[in-house]
Amino acid sequence: MNKQAPPPSTKEIVARINTIIPSSFVDGPGHRFVVFFQGCNLDCSYCHNPETKRDVPFTAFTVDELLDSVVMELPFIDGVTFSGGECTLQPAFIEAFSKSLAQKSGSSGSKVKLILDTNGCFNQEVYSQLKNCIQGFILDIKAISATVHQKLTGVHNQLILDNALQMARDGLLVEVRTVLVPGDNDTPVELNSLRKFYQQLKDYNQGNEIKFRLIESSNMER
Ligand code: SF4
Repeated sequence: MNKQAPPPSTKEIVARINTIIPSSFVDGPGHRFVVFFQGCNLDCSYCHNPETKRDVPFTAFTVDELLDSVVMELPFIDGVTFSGGECTLQPAFIEAFSKSLAQKSGSSGSKVKLILDTNGCFNQEVYSQLKNCIQGFILDIKAISATVHQKLTGVHNQLILDNALQMARDGLLVEVRTVLVPGDNDTPVELNSLRKFYQQLKDYNQGNEIKFRLIESSNMER
């Protein structure tokens, strides 16, 4: 009889990471430890982190190595945010890290929440894998019109909008933001559709507050 290989340990599961910021107040609620993952599945014309989507050298971290860095900051932070690039391209790492973080922060008495800052472009299998091991999503909605979205990012947005509604139904949306690109997604028609979609998300989000933000593309934080 064939024996199944044991699952990889937290010393073996590795993430491709571009940058780590141990202290941020703009990447989710409160004071956060932020990890920018390498790689992205969109190609936004206005990308604010272009170095994360290119095929450039990155640092490989195991779950244990990243956790060691976070543990040093535990007394000072309210949570951890995984950003990018697109962090959900590395779901096995997120799942393993989240379990280890829960064990570590639970035993230290602090309740550190893991939030994913995502473009929302992932399939149902990834969503099911992630939704039970994180405490919220920060979601970028690039455009409501499929044509505008395709122009800005190179991909269709149906999957992203469906995921947004599912996140809201599960009460997991913490923040939704849209970067306004003049002449593309800031037209009256597009803004009106966006407002209606925001309202739908708010109605679905199980009474949990969602922060909505419109950001001028000339005023990006990073
Ligand atoms: S989703 Fe974010 S990281 Fe990816 S290309 Fe768009 S702006 Fe850049």
